[in-house]
Amino acid sequence: MIQETFPMTVGGEEVLNERELLTGVESGLMMDSTDSVRYIILHCSATRCNCDYTVEQLLRDHRARGFRTIGYHFYVRRDGVVSQHRRLLEVGAHCRPFNRCSIGVCYEGGLDTEGHPADTLTPEQFEQLEQLLSRLLKLFPVAQLRGHRDMPGSVPKACPCLDCQSVFQAIL
Ligand SMILES: [Zn+2]
Repeated sequence: MIQETFPMTVGGEEVLNERELLTGVESGLMMDSTDSVRYIILHCSATRCNCDYTVEQLLRDHRARGFRTIGYHFYVRRDGVVSQHRRLLEVGAHCRPFNRCSIGVCYEGGLDTEGHPADTLTPEQFEQLEQLLSRLLKLFPVAQLRGHRDMPGSVPKACPCLDCQSVFQAIL
């Protein structure tokens, strides 16, 4: 067994004591509590509704942007298959500067066959999203559902290419 003693150097950075290390982990990667989650933010992949955009493609694209892994917590394919990519209180990478107080959910699509923004949700996607979002809203009682474009200062004008409040009004 290796005896670790402080101060120690981790990845070129000197860590003075255990307390400092724990503080770094907590403030860097994870949100503090369920009350930290103030928004459930919906995104679309901004891909055409007749094209596949797989988890592998999404991972490749997010890694190319310098992310460790997929920036969203959940991704919902057109066939309704849901995948999770971040732990629930893990800080995501999907909507600066709200990553420390939100959960990111993305659905595949958002553009029609011509490439114009449109509500392209399939019945399977809608059903799975509604179930997922309602669970998240129960789990995080302080959180509100928002589309990416509804967040202050957001750059994309169309994402998620639908009106969250009306599409998911049944669970709000
Ligand atoms: Zn977005």
